[in-house]
Amino acid sequence: MSRVLIIGAGGVGQVVAHKCAQVPEVFSEITLASRTESKCKLIAAQILEKQGRQIATAQVDADNVPELVALIRKLEPALVINVALPYQDLHIMDACLETGVPYLDTANYEPLDTAKFEYKWQWAYQDRFSRAGLMALLGSGFDPGATNVFTAWIKKHYFDEIHTLDIIDVNGGNHGYPFATNFNPEINIREVTAECRHWENGAFVTTDAMSLKQGFTCPEGVGTYNIYRMYHEELESLTKNFPTLKKAQFWMSFGESYLKHLEVLGNVGMTRIDPVEFQGQQIVPIQFLKALLPDPSTLGPRTVGRTCIGCHVTGLKDGKPRKVFVYNICDHQACYKEVMSQAISYTTGVPAMIGAKMMLEGKWSAPGVWNMEQMDPDPFMEDMNRYGLPWTVIEEPDFNLV
Ligand code: NDP
Repeated sequence: MSRVLIIGAGGVGQVVAHKCAQVPEVFSEITLASRTESKCKLIAAQILEKQGRQIATAQVDADNVPELVALIRKLEPALVINVALPYQDLHIMDACLETGVPYLDTANYEPLDTAKFEYKWQWAYQDRFSRAGLMALLGSGFDPGATNVFTAWIKKHYFDEIHTLDIIDVNGGNHGYPFATNFNPEINIREVTAECRHWENGAFVTTDAMSLKQGFTCPEGVGTYNIYRMYHEELESLTKNFPTLKKAQFWMSFGESYLKHLEVLGNVGMTRIDPVEFQGQQIVPIQFLKALLPDPSTLGPRTVGRTCIGCHVTGLKDGKPRKVFVYNICDHQACYKEVMSQAISYTTGVPAMIGAKMMLEGKWSAPGVWNMEQMDPDPFMEDMNRYGLPWTVIEEPDFNLV
């Protein structure tokens, strides 16, 4: 029985709060805090209606460490779940260290002025969390998160040595808008417009964004989609923690309309992350664009279709080559029915709840800063089946990836 503090009341925070509320034997008291408390209150009302539980709400600016420290001291949570934005990660980690509370997030720290997607800033906290006897779990969403656990589980149960990893993230959903992002638009656009990096023969190789694509047919009739190679943050930790990997790539599906809009927005400067002067004011174009686009947390009722996210691994077992694909399929409308959210927020929020559950139950417990694949994957995989993200294994799948 534990009290948790969830920070961030966006699309993902909403799912985390609902899912924690569904597991009262672990999450006995829940506070949802965010910059705009009215959003927390709306979610609390939904949770009362859907899950029959009362959760508390609070206002906090997570960039203000003394304010965070005061809130954490007041609530004395057993864990802080950070589902605000990557810019807040270090401030929340600082506040956790100051108050002696473990930490969990779903996305690595990024400085506002450069889109880097690197773990170095958070890995630098390793000694401080170790010395304090506190655990920090990084990237407990789907990708990163479940994809790291899938990789560790496949390695543990099917291979002596793994050689290639392809993470495939297909969103076969349709929200009916010509252009909208399924999670925070600023973070999403920074991610997909960044140059591509993949791992090959001991180093990251850089190529132009979206310069390599292939067709991929998802299992279970989800459909055939173009998937584009791009950089994703879990490649950094997975290639470090599985040094036998010779090649590691991340692929994501994008529709023609999304890519065309993105190209035009990029060409006219609307995706710039540096401030520009406009009528005597400094504005950041991508932040202005975010204000114009649909809020991802409102896409739930109108998104139909399914997602398919999985890891394809090749390597050796008993000296013989083998390949294994593990994936989850998630239905947008089923998610909406359960927690009033589309599947992108759902597939992120459920692993955040499960990661928190692993820590609070002591199944994952070690002082220091950890990525998901460094923990035993088995109890996490069991809970994915139990809490809404069931997975399937295909041994020797019949597709070939470039
Ligand atoms: P949203 O933009 O919908 O929500 C972010 C929330 O954080 C908002 O409620 C916002 O408040 C709040 N917030 C922002 N700044 C502060 C601050 N300084 N203090 C307090 N609260 C703040 O984002 P999402 O829910 O879509 O994404 C949340 C996180 O999940 C992101 O870090 C994203 O990168 C990550 N993510 C991870 C995925 C994975 O699979 N690993 C996949 C998808 C997302 P306000 O409402 O006032 O703006």
